[in-house]
Amino acid sequence: MARIANVEIECFRVPLDEILVDAKHGNHTHFELILCFIDTEDGLRGTGYTYTGGFGGGAIGAMLRDDIAPFLIGLDADGIGKIWYDLQWRVHYVGRGGIASFALSAVDIALWDIRGKRSGLPLWKLAGGNGRLVKVYAGGIDLNFSPEKLLDSIRGHLDRGFRAVKIKVGQKKLSDDFDRALAVREIIGEESGFMVDANMVWQADTAIKAARFFRDKTNALWLEEPTIPDDYQGYERIGREGGLAIGMGENLHTIYEFRQAIETGKIAYPIPDASNIGGITGFLKVAALAEANNLPVCSHGMQELHVSLVAGVVNSGWVEAHSFPIDRYTARPLVIKDGFAEAPDAPGVGVEFRYDALDAFRRKM
Ligand SMILES: [Mg+2]
Repeated sequence: MARIANVEIECFRVPLDEILVDAKHGNHTHFELILCFIDTEDGLRGTGYTYTGGFGGGAIGAMLRDDIAPFLIGLDADGIGKIWYDLQWRVHYVGRGGIASFALSAVDIALWDIRGKRSGLPLWKLAGGNGRLVKVYAGGIDLNFSPEKLLDSIRGHLDRGFRAVKIKVGQKKLSDDFDRALAVREIIGEESGFMVDANMVWQADTAIKAARFFRDKTNALWLEEPTIPDDYQGYERIGREGGLAIGMGENLHTIYEFRQAIETGKIAYPIPDASNIGGITGFLKVAALAEANNLPVCSHGMQELHVSLVAGVVNSGWVEAHSFPIDRYTARPLVIKDGFAEAPDAPGVGVEFRYDALDAFRRKM
């Protein structure tokens, strides 16, 4: 048994090169990285982390430092499922599905990093060993881009090797969303994958109208988060009456919410994010739930980690290559080969941060 001897928390607030906008979260000017380092008595160090769209990182860091780190000291680092369960309940009363899910994710990823390093196995093998290559698409945060700039950014995605793209929708006029989607489809051609993401902006009737257009005129693969995540009945109606596959998941922060989204909401693409669903343990539980419902599992954000998870599971869906410039701050930028993303093969979770690049953005804890 290797006991946890030390836990350290660090927080970074990293500026974006330009303001990025989606339909509901407003202007993104920064993203935050909250890192959790766990050391074992026998000298292994695991690095886990979560991220935010610019707000809340201080609260996540405080919960990790004050409520979670002291609990971890002395526990068996390999008892990940038990730690995951006990941590859920320790902070459940104040943080169920919220800050708590982000904090738990950072701890869980660090523990899996230790497990991988101890066993000498990369995450894609620990996740199931399905393969190293996985479908990937470029996920733009481009709602505020002019039509010209939007198309330029799409050309940039194609130049970088992507064969599938997603754009934001939710313009003031629905017809503007339609025009933008048509223009993007024209540029990427018939064969490329195309998705649209409304970031929860519509109510069901508008979403149904939009879904029908994107299905008939742009051959979209899915419509993501057409309405608020809490309206599971609305999701079912949008999918049924709109006739287009629906995806969601970045705002579902417990496995029970995913069960509702699949059973009641009838979503076709569960899109969990290991940074807020309880880390790798939470992600794999959602992947298994998706598998039991004969659905692929996809991922939101954190492509540097999700590339291994989505590649490794047998019901492998799509990895989103998110627009936050995380590649600048990791030792291994996302590798794309023939349109597929390739998971790292190093033992552990395969994400090493470049502290020389991050140091300037350290946030006081
Ligand atoms: Mg989204």
